[in-house]
Amino acid sequence: EEIRELLLSRIREVADYPRPGVRFKDITPLLADSKAFSLVTETMAAICRRRRATKVAGLEARGFILAAPVAVRAQVGFIPVRKAGKLPGATLSQSYELEYGSAEIELHAEDLTPEDRVLVIDDVLATGGTAEASLHLIRRTGAQVAGVTMLMELGFLAGRERLREALGPAPLDVLLTL
Ligand code: IMP
Repeated sequence: EEIRELLLSRIREVADYPRPGVRFKDITPLLADSKAFSLVTETMAAICRRRRATKVAGLEARGFILAAPVAVRAQVGFIPVRKAGKLPGATLSQSYELEYGSAEIELHAEDLTPEDRVLVIDDVLATGGTAEASLHLIRRTGAQVAGVTMLMELGFLAGRERLREALGPAPLDVLLTL
């Protein structure tokens, strides 16, 4: 409960960004506060250990900021899941539907093996489309999904339901539900 209050107080709501009608959750105040940032990465690292993950995958771009310190703390490797066209090596790509149009994400397949258990980390679970696509990508490498961990879940967007099938028995952990 104390944790919830601290995290809530460090998330800024920005009205009508990036489009009219959207209330954007901005985590930069949380990142600027060492205590709040450590609390988040420490909590996520504990989840990473509990799920027996061998790799942490961060979703571009804010997922990188959270997942990299989690990987170091949990002593596992870090995998960047990037927007199409950014990775130099041989990639696997997955496109998915957005509210308006579609998007595509990629990863370097050779950095994962079938022995890996991958924990996906991002800042916000909104519609769940991005996380769902990342789970398909990870499975296509032959690796297993250890779980999905999000700083916050926007409950009214029902991303949890969209993720259900792709998750299977793997757990979805969120630090904060809005
Ligand atoms: P989804 O695919 O609809 O779940 O959207 C998730 C992606 O959009 C994540 O990578 C988030 O970082 C980003 N996102 C969506 N809404 C917000 C927000 O309010 N604040 C910050 N990021 C957001």
